[in-house]
Amino acid sequence: MRILLVEDEKRVVLFVRKALQAEGFSVDALHRGDEVLGAATATAFDVVILDIMLPGRDGLSVLRQLRERGVHTPVLLLTARGEVNERVEGLNAGADDYLPKPFVLAELVARVRALGRRGGETRPVELRLNDLTLDTVAHTVQRGGRMIDLTPREYRLLEFLLKSSGRVCSRMAIVESVWDYDFDPGSNLVDVYIKRLREKIDGAATARLLHTVRGVGYILKDSA
Ligand code: CA
Repeated sequence: MRILLVEDEKRVVLFVRKALQAEGFSVDALHRGDEVLGAATATAFDVVILDIMLPGRDGLSVLRQLRERGVHTPVLLLTARGEVNERVEGLNAGADDYLPKPFVLAELVARVRALGRRGGETRPVELRLNDLTLDTVAHTVQRGGRMIDLTPREYRLLEFLLKSSGRVCSRMAIVESVWDYDFDPGSNLVDVYIKRLREKIDGAATARLLHTVRGVGYILKDSA
């Protein structure tokens, strides 16, 4: 199962991510509400865990936006303790379940599992830039019709860059999305992976897609 966790408190993200990964789930995390629609339409998640208090756009508004746009992925809402109105409003807005904070991790895992079983959409989603395509269901990548063999980490890196294509991604943003732990930002790990990925996707092609923005990060874009 693939879970989208939307929460701005880094400690909570860390705990929840660990617990879900221990169950064999794959977890993508977002810290802002206004990034959810883009992510949830680009990738077929099995469950979205959505906090209400978020920067950018609050959870209830995100939820309404998702449902209006036809995204029917099951949503577990994280609500503040004792906020009955919030829960009622959340269920009216299209939440499938809610969990008051603070919660016990085992209960969160059980609820996520139950929602995942209920089943959301499993439509194939293809991310595309120029002649580069990534199939998020089959987990395959092609450039100009030629299959490209990527390691799981390179795949996640490319998926993140494709979802953000046209926008510069800082090393820190890449680390947070592609690696599940914090590591020394002075490390050149990201640069090493970018170099390998670039060789694989741009190596044999005439048009370069993966560009370095000096001192800032990387961007995947069509240079034409
Ligand atoms: Ca919050």
